[in-house]
Amino acid sequence: IIKVEHLKKHFGDLEVLDDIDFSVNKGEVISIIGSSGSGKSTLLRCINLLEIPDGGTISFHGKNILDKDRNLTDYRSKVGMVFQSFNLFNNKNVIDNCIIGQRQVLKRSKEEARKIAEGHLQRVGMSNFLNHASTKLSGGQKQRVAIARALSMDPEVLLFDEPTSALDPEMVGEVLEVMKDLARNGLTMVVVTHEMQFARDVSDRVIFMDKGVIAEQGTPEEVFENPKNERTRQFLSRYS
Ligand code: ATP
Ligand code: MG
Repeated sequence: IIKVEHLKKHFGDLEVLDDIDFSVNKGEVISIIGSSGSGKSTLLRCINLLEIPDGGTISFHGKNILDKDRNLTDYRSKVGMVFQSFNLFNNKNVIDNCIIGQRQVLKRSKEEARKIAEGHLQRVGMSNFLNHASTKLSGGQKQRVAIARALSMDPEVLLFDEPTSALDPEMVGEVLEVMKDLARNGLTMVVVTHEMQFARDVSDRVIFMDKGVIAEQGTPEEVFENPKNERTRQFLSRYS
């Protein structure tokens, strides 16, 4: 679905992404791991065009979305993002958080948008909170609403940037369960995570980023059981 080639991004003198190549295939679950500052978030943000890359191409179904004639709104609705910090609309209740994008971007009717939102909120176990203020939810509940909101846009690919890192430990499990369920149901996902067990159990492919490059990638078995790169080994040893 997505093909990234020779992607480059720098902030000032800092080369954050240095010639990144990778692709996302339909139905695939990809985990991106790596040390703080290795460029994981920047890569996701470039894929979603929250950052504009300095070089390279990002193709979506074969079309370079960095071209001038790209349809950004259309692209962003097809490539959703779930953030570490939830980014819910604090002045809206749960169901409205899941409706607004559908109305504004997809031009769905109120009734249709509500029905779709309810379906996804049920899927993430938040049916009983439709009219709750989003500010009154726990972190785990907020993140599940954020996932339902992203799903309500019918994305072809969902990007997750450390979706459980801001959560209290007892809430990590409920969010990971939702994500596992999505993976089992065939959603195409790219997940930046420090949850090594999740990466190991759920991913089809694991990417290890180090200083702006993909230092190693492979199946979870290859990367976790038999890492080829010395930096990968050092990184993983911190988790065992
Ligand atoms: P973490 O695990 O801490 O989230 P990361 O792998 O996601 O790290 P990035 O957030 O992509 O890393 O950041 C990579 C580097 O780019 C870091 O050194 C960071 O300070 C720098 N950086 C990121 N965003 C900006 C920005 N908007 N302006 C300047 N520097 C930035
Ligand atoms: Mg990050």
